[in-house]
Amino acid sequence: MPTLSQKVSAISPSPTLTIDARAKELKSAGEDVIGFGAGEPDFDTPLHIREAAKNAIDEGFTRYTPASGIPELKKAICEKLRKDNGLEFQPGQIVVSNGAKHSLDNVFAAILNKGDEVIIPAPYWVSYPELVKLNDGVPVILETKKDNCYKARTDELEKAITPRTKAFILNSPNNPTGCVYTRDELEGIAHLALKHQFYIVSDEIYEKLIYGENEHVSIASLSKEVQEQTIIVNGVSKSYAMTGWRIGYTASSLPLANAMANLQSHAASNPNSIAQKAALAALNGPQDCVEEMRRTFTRRRDYMLNRLKSFPFISAVEPEGAFYLFIHVGKTFAKKFRGTLIGDGDNFAALLLEHYRVAIVPGKGFGAPEYARFSYATSEEIIAAGLDRLESFLRELT
Ligand code: PMP
Ligand code: GLU
Repeated sequence: MPTLSQKVSAISPSPTLTIDARAKELKSAGEDVIGFGAGEPDFDTPLHIREAAKNAIDEGFTRYTPASGIPELKKAICEKLRKDNGLEFQPGQIVVSNGAKHSLDNVFAAILNKGDEVIIPAPYWVSYPELVKLNDGVPVILETKKDNCYKARTDELEKAITPRTKAFILNSPNNPTGCVYTRDELEGIAHLALKHQFYIVSDEIYEKLIYGENEHVSIASLSKEVQEQTIIVNGVSKSYAMTGWRIGYTASSLPLANAMANLQSHAASNPNSIAQKAALAALNGPQDCVEEMRRTFTRRRDYMLNRLKSFPFISAVEPEGAFYLFIHVGKTFAKKFRGTLIGDGDNFAALLLEHYRVAIVPGKGFGAPEYARFSYATSEEIIAAGLDRLESFLRELT
């Protein structure tokens, strides 16, 4: 049997998607499963966006488009970046792709040479290290501290920089912790990026989902020099409940955008034509749907945080953005559930799923094995029922 590539053999499957698929499979087999796994809004895509897609089909907008996206969508993205983030970009600097995940893959393919290092603060979104490895890079995991809300501190970051450092991944609001970097913290990171000449890959996919007094600052807006060295990654999946449509984008320097467009022209031809029209309607249409979803997420977050306070053994990081609760479950590892030692986060998640039919994502894939991620992108009734089950599970531990 001919062998597989070493690259592909060295990566593991996405745990978020694996858990989500497992929960959906159990549900469709008639099992009463409560899914806290998926990182996707439970809302339907707003009507005006769906209508735009239907019109695109009816009008025959069903052929290849320019590889890096249709001009009107790139223009709308530039307008969004100007309005929301105070950034000036030209349409040529935008590359529209099949979801932000695909955008990230393009970025790493375009900037990494074999052995180049990418600094990733942990906890991190599960796909970052794997995407870096797939593109011949070396993920350098930077441990962060709870007392700094798991954000990279400038002094810690500086210690991780080597002559091979090519990029730093900034994800604010963060998946899985929900933490948001302040302007001051961003200034510190930007200063290091300019001093040591590495890229900042700024994944801003959760920028619209922010709670309380926190504000989203795009690091690229700090100065022209910082913008030159930043690659913004964003998309419509989370803000507009469009996970299945697969539209993400990058905003970067022109040479890098050209390189990614060339790559994409061979690897994917173009992002889906109909979904591009839908994304255009999302960006150009009314934005009240985004605010409505954000308010709903705020209510759910507050409800969960409040209830969890009285649960034994676990504690949550208070999220400032995104729609996840990152929960410390390490204190349960020495406990037993019906005679079985829990031992680690994978077992915790497996026992909770097997006996109480609650799906969560264990922390190992996020680089935080003592934690588990609970998504609150699900209805309040489901959250309430899921927490009842979690509480019963925890109270059974001995
Ligand atoms: N970045 C982060 C931090 C994410 O959580 C996700 C999950 N969807 C993505 C990027 C990818 O988004 P998309 O669905 O647009 O590929
Ligand atoms: N990003 C979401 C999550 O973290 C969706 C699944 C994925 O793409 O990883 O759950």
